[in-house]
Amino acid sequence: MTWHFDTLAIHGGQPNDPQTGAINTPVYFTSTFGQTEPGVTRGFDYARTNHPTRGALEETLAALEGARHGVAFASGMAAINGTIVALLAKGDHVVSTRDLYGGAWRIFTKLWARFGVEFTFIDTTDPVNVAAALRPETKLLWLETPSNPLLKVTDIAACTAAVQGRGVVTVVDNTFASPCLQRPLELGADVVLHSTTKYINGHSDALGGIVITDRDDLHERLRFFQNAVGAVPGPHDCYLIARGAKTLGLRVERHCDNAETIARHLDGLAGIRRVHFPGLASHPSHDVARRQMKRPGAVLAIELDLDLEGTRRFARSLRLWTVAESLGGVKSLVSHPATMTHASVEPDVRREVGIVDSLLRLSVGLEDPRDLICDLDEALVVARCGVVKREAIA
Ligand SMILES: *Cc1c(COP(=O)(O)O)cnc(C)c1O
Repeated sequence: MTWHFDTLAIHGGQPNDPQTGAINTPVYFTSTFGQTEPGVTRGFDYARTNHPTRGALEETLAALEGARHGVAFASGMAAINGTIVALLAKGDHVVSTRDLYGGAWRIFTKLWARFGVEFTFIDTTDPVNVAAALRPETKLLWLETPSNPLLKVTDIAACTAAVQGRGVVTVVDNTFASPCLQRPLELGADVVLHSTTKYINGHSDALGGIVITDRDDLHERLRFFQNAVGAVPGPHDCYLIARGAKTLGLRVERHCDNAETIARHLDGLAGIRRVHFPGLASHPSHDVARRQMKRPGAVLAIELDLDLEGTRRFARSLRLWTVAESLGGVKSLVSHPATMTHASVEPDVRREVGIVDSLLRLSVGLEDPRDLICDLDEALVVARCGVVKREAIA
């Protein structure tokens, strides 16, 4: 019997405890494991190497991507760093999506470039650019889709086809879509990566990352790195992330419902210059998103018809939407990429990719969408009138 997504999220890697019958995987708070005699273990020796609560999480998340191997890290960035270090060496070349998560951009350009790994950043929404950027020393194709913060969708199957037979490993950062909406390994990717801090945990109460693959050779290198470096999540975080994952399917559906309602409301509204959401027919990635994703996700970006100060006033005036980094949790969040997530990207590069000063990214949560819309509408009035105090409107 092959289980469906929602069943795997609850049962995959999470059997009842054989010893007690506890229906939840025990959280083992231990750093080491007793051996019956020197060198003879019960399957576990030291928690950096191998840990039952972490192992259960790795198995669950691998199952959700349709793969056999998951390697968990203490954060999404630790997972990204681990993938680069485990799979590359000095002199290797990476072709990467240009419209990239700010932290990934920073580690690629400011850290890994120093160690002799070369990066070429391209617009991967056109697969022709992928083939054109390949060099003999290209070892990795790094895709992030939908992209952050403009939600551009890369055609994963077309890009993996473009590197076919070139010995290039394709990695997809699937954080924004979650395995519920998009399954990169089925589209030809070799490795899929998540910041589990986002939708998979879903409650904004733990940091985590995971790297998933079905290839034994890649898994072996990732596992070696995990043990050698030890940027692993503790048992409590593993538990929180596994608990969040159990309701992933349910939550993501509602996140998507809310995002669609809000995107339609904002699209064309006075004071909103543009709504970036792949679910809208006007978005350049609308067709690819429809083919590749179950639904277009629950993050959107809006350009206000305001200057920087007006945009900040808008963000300040919101009551339900919290100004914060991150996404994918039950609470709705708003961020200002130019001064927050993408502040470390050089201003000219930022403008070139369309991250203007009036752009805000919305992570639509699970509140009642009527309340979320009401809050946005009121803040828009405040921001556009400038001096009017919020209390005067209520
Ligand atoms: C948040 C995020 C990361 C980094 O994950 P952390 O858990 O914050 O370290 C990487 N990629 C994407 C797309 C993200 O949204």
